[in-house]
Amino acid sequence: MTTDQYGFDTLAIHAGQDPDPRTGAVVPPIYQTSTYAQDAVGAPRLGYEYSRSGNPTRDALQECLAAIEGGRRGLAFASGLAAEDTLLRTICRPGDHVVIPNDAYGGTYRLFAKVAERWGLDWTAAPLDDPDAVRAAFRPGHTRLIWAETPTNPLLNIADIPALAALAHEYDALLAVDNTFASPYLQQPLALGADVVIHSTTKYLGGHSDVVGGALVVADPGLGDELGFHQNAMGAVNGPFDAWLTLRGIKTLGVRMDRHCDNAERIVGFLSEHKKVSSVLYPGLDTHPGHETAAKQMRRFGGMVSFRAAGGAEQAIEICNRAKLFVLAESLGGVESLIEHPGQMTHLSAAGSALEVPADLVRLSVGIETVDDLLADLEQALG
Ligand SMILES: *Cc1c(COP(=O)(O)O)cnc(C)c1O
Repeated sequence: MTTDQYGFDTLAIHAGQDPDPRTGAVVPPIYQTSTYAQDAVGAPRLGYEYSRSGNPTRDALQECLAAIEGGRRGLAFASGLAAEDTLLRTICRPGDHVVIPNDAYGGTYRLFAKVAERWGLDWTAAPLDDPDAVRAAFRPGHTRLIWAETPTNPLLNIADIPALAALAHEYDALLAVDNTFASPYLQQPLALGADVVIHSTTKYLGGHSDVVGGALVVADPGLGDELGFHQNAMGAVNGPFDAWLTLRGIKTLGVRMDRHCDNAERIVGFLSEHKKVSSVLYPGLDTHPGHETAAKQMRRFGGMVSFRAAGGAEQAIEICNRAKLFVLAESLGGVESLIEHPGQMTHLSAAGSALEVPADLVRLSVGIETVDDLLADLEQALG
């Protein structure tokens, strides 16, 4: 299908998913096969020869990912971190340097600090909402990439995508944006000047907490080809069933995101008034330092809400333990609401580093349940 004539929800449901020409199946089949019969030596049918290199179910997902991010090429991986690793090793060489957010997702930080660094890749953590600090972190000639996340996990800081793109391009570097928290329904970084979009499709794109996956989307076909080469050469691809589950999740992304946002807004209102909450972190609040930037580049402000407990770390942990409907669990972006203590859970690997998160912080992934039930659960958990 040609993608420029259709709206977001149409693309989410149809891009890459024309009915199967042989059977008419409306949903792309799960091609659960590792290899493909060839019609003659050197003549693979439809170009498929081995499922690490290509699989029709994964291709359907990749086409859909490209369409909903407004890119030319989408690539699907076994996890968000597999996508990140493939991106790093495609773009960077030993001796290169990357600017990363000083509140990056814990696993991203660990990939840079504990893995990539050993292979000679240098990095600097900078506050990405401060353009002067990002400029100061740049090492002209060595910095290949600004790695942005917006909103960030779990502090929900906002980076100005067009401003960072301009800065990166001024130094012949690229801007990669981890768009996991916003999802392409709320924010499309390529249209704002970014070169690469990163996703943990485990989160909002999959949307049902039943599959782990990752993605990269780019606008430049040359960069797409390089990433495609590394996707095959490094081999961190997702399987056909995982690709199918992710594709099924994407169909309802728009309606889910609207409900995530509706529910999050109600919860933010409730928490903002609560005496046991010292502050609420949500880019939709006009008191949030990134509110104006967020309003420019996001359709709405998303389903992730963090807050700080007035009673400190102990109380934050107590709230997490007392919640019932909010499931105490890592991850985010599924239909069910989750609660967690980043300091002891998702961001434990950043403890003692510049990326350590406040101990009184609680993070909510607001699901799409009946909002009054979510409010009642928070009420009892806050005590
Ligand atoms: C979860 C997450 C990742 C890592 O993705 P996995 O699918 O868990 O490998 C990267 N970035 C952000 C913002 C995330 O929330």
